[in-house]
Amino acid sequence: MSEQGERTTSEGGPVTVLQLDGLRASVAGKEILRGVDLVVRSGEVHAVMGPNGSGKSTLSHVIMGRPGYEVLGGTITLDGADVLAMAPHERAAAGLFLAMQYPTEVPGVSLEAMLTEALVGAGRVAAVGEVRTRMVAEAERIGFDERFLQRPLNVDLSGGEKKRNETLQLGVLQPRIAILDEIDSGLDVDALRDVSRRVEAETNERGLGVLAITHYRRLLTELRPDVVHVLVRGRIVATGGPELADELERSGYAGFTEDASEPEEPTRDVGDPLQDPFADPLP
Ligand code: ADP
Ligand code: MG
Repeated sequence: MSEQGERTTSEGGPVTVLQLDGLRASVAGKEILRGVDLVVRSGEVHAVMGPNGSGKSTLSHVIMGRPGYEVLGGTITLDGADVLAMAPHERAAAGLFLAMQYPTEVPGVSLEAMLTEALVGAGRVAAVGEVRTRMVAEAERIGFDERFLQRPLNVDLSGGEKKRNETLQLGVLQPRIAILDEIDSGLDVDALRDVSRRVEAETNERGLGVLAITHYRRLLTELRPDVVHVLVRGRIVATGGPELADELERSGYAGFTEDASEPEEPTRDVGDPLQDPFADPLP
C-alpha cells in the first residue's frame, strides 16, 4: 500500500489517483448516487460493501461511463484529468478497468479479438501472437480453460467462468485502477482464491489500485482490503479498516441504514445472496 503524498509506488512506478468528489448520478430519472467521495491510489485495495440496490453497480457504471446513467453533480478525476469528459473507451485507455457484475455476452466477437482491439485502441500495439501468449499465460494462472479463449465473448459461459474471463482481461490489459463489481459472485472457493491471488499480485507487483465491490466478507478474506467503505442508499455512510467488514458480518447493514432519512426502496429481485453466498444471481 502506498502512503499518501508518495509519488511512486513501492515498485517505483508512478502513482495513479482516482478521485470522486460529491458524485451524484441518476438512472431512469431516479437519483441513485447522492454524493460519493472516494480516493483510490495505486497499490491500494478499497472495498465497497452495501445492501442490494444501494448503488454499487451504478457507481461502477458511472465511473466507466456506461450510457443511460446521468451525472447530476460532482467530479471524477484520474490523475487530475476529467474522467467525466471522456468516452468509455478513453477511460479504459487512460487506465480504468471494470469487471462487470453481469458481463455482457458478445456473439461473434472472440476474447482475443476484443483484447487485441483494446490494446491497439489504448495505443499499446500488441502483435496478435503476443496477445495470445499473454491470454494463455493468464488463463493458466487463474485456472481458466483455454478452450474458452477462442469462443465468442461470454457466450454460454457459467457465472463463475464469466468472472474468470473478466479477471483474465484484467491480467492482459494491465490497467492502473480496476473496479471489480461482485467478482466473487458465482465463484466457488477455489476459483475465488485463484482470482483474488491474481488481483492481489497485480496490486503488489504493478501497483494496481482496486475498488472491490462486494456483498460478502468472504471475498475480503482472500483479497485483503486496506480500506472498507459502506455504501447505503447512494452515500458512503462509514469508512474504516478491514474490521468494518467483520462488523458487517456480525450485525448486517441494519445499523448503517437506521440513520437514513428516507425508507429503503424496494429494488430488483436478485434472490437473497446473503443466505447463499455461492448463488449466481444470473437468471
Ligand atoms: P447494487 O449494485 O448496489 O445492488 P444498483 O446500482 O444495481 O445497486 O441499483 C441501484 C438502484 O438503481 C436500484 O434501485 C435499481 O433498481 C436502480 N437501477 C439500476 N440500474 C437501473 C436501470 N438501468 N434502470 C432503472 N433502474 C435502475
Ligand atoms: Mg450490483
